[in-house]
Amino acid sequence: MNTADGVRRVTACRVCGADDWLPVVDLGSVPLANNYLDPAASYADERTFPLGAQSCRSCRLMSLTHVVDPELLYRDYAYVTSESVTITRHMRWVAELLGTRFGLGPGSFVVELGSNTGQQLVEFQRAGMRGLGVDPARNLAGRAAANGVQTLVEFFDADLGRRIARERGHADLVLGRHVFGHVDDLAGLAEGVRELLSPRGVFAIEVPYLLDLLDQTAFDTIYHEHLSYLCVSTMATLFARFGLRVVDVERTAVHGGSVVVVVARAEGPWPTRPSVDRLVELERAAGVFDDGTYGHFSRRVALIRAELPQLLRDLRAGGATIAGYGAPAKGNTVLTTCGIGRDEVSFCIDTTDLKQGKVLPGSHIPVEVPAHARANPPDYFLLLAWNYTDEIVRREREFLAGGGRFIRPIPHPAVVAAGDSAMAG
Ligand SMILES: [Zn+2]
Repeated sequence: MNTADGVRRVTACRVCGADDWLPVVDLGSVPLANNYLDPAASYADERTFPLGAQSCRSCRLMSLTHVVDPELLYRDYAYVTSESVTITRHMRWVAELLGTRFGLGPGSFVVELGSNTGQQLVEFQRAGMRGLGVDPARNLAGRAAANGVQTLVEFFDADLGRRIARERGHADLVLGRHVFGHVDDLAGLAEGVRELLSPRGVFAIEVPYLLDLLDQTAFDTIYHEHLSYLCVSTMATLFARFGLRVVDVERTAVHGGSVVVVVARAEGPWPTRPSVDRLVELERAAGVFDDGTYGHFSRRVALIRAELPQLLRDLRAGGATIAGYGAPAKGNTVLTTCGIGRDEVSFCIDTTDLKQGKVLPGSHIPVEVPAHARANPPDYFLLLAWNYTDEIVRREREFLAGGGRFIRPIPHPAVVAAGDSAMAG
């Protein structure tokens, strides 16, 4: 890491070591997506960092072109695990799925990497298991403790894996939900997990799935925290280097399309389920290994970046008001890389208290409590949290009945209304 400016260009692939990159998208230089600002702050000090993606022609890891120092990204972290119905239900599903398939029960030891407020570990602890969180965010450990979850406020690596195993025993499950793609030193992570796992233990990873990202043109998943965009084929390549084997995979709709990948010791007792080969085959058929696939993706991203701001400006020119629904980090990729600001979107609403009263990085759109939108209803809501569309539509029947409309930025900018079949996506 070149700590002089906190950013370095990615050369060697963090999965296979090759340095043969296909450029995919260049999204310019933008602020960190979770760096919500005080409205009183001087925006002149706001730093921007290059944001782009490239595909390794050898193992098909899709990686950011530049890596920002994790100390800048994670020590004070505004992302709090959503307590939405969708996510809570999903966490219960994850706990049940892994518990049933991999023989976990009362007394099992579960370590979660990137445990945030501890919401997922609570699901395991409720079933009588022993939970331990690992998360470098100093501002979140107290929240986890309030949820009854103990957290080590550290970055996970091989040393910490060994230390936890020595001091607290080997883990029956190591879980990393939406954290694996955030880690630059994947080798250190894989080694640490190998040290920490019991002989029958499994490592379950949930990541945004590269196939869904390409299929939905979900370029908003691309921001500085997400260093890697992964498919099962690439993960199998990585883990084989560390004596680990992919034994199970499950696709899920969460976060716009994710995949749960379960890894075990290569020599361990768990058979490889047929779903693994099926997904690897699907990836090949979907063109993950073809340069042309990434060219198509890049052109569709360019189209969204041209059409979305134009759509918003046309609506504003016609006198309409527009607010953002949700203020997720991914929404900041959409706003900053499309050049959308307060002229187009007057405010965003979000239920996360750490974001309320702040302004979004880059676009400086203010974040308000949801009640603000009920008092000042916009004509249109831009669905920055488009992955929660179903839940939002159920919650906002009144807004729709009153003539309000939603704009979905992805997979293609479009105005959608009550009863519109596009809302079902
Ligand atoms: Zn590679």
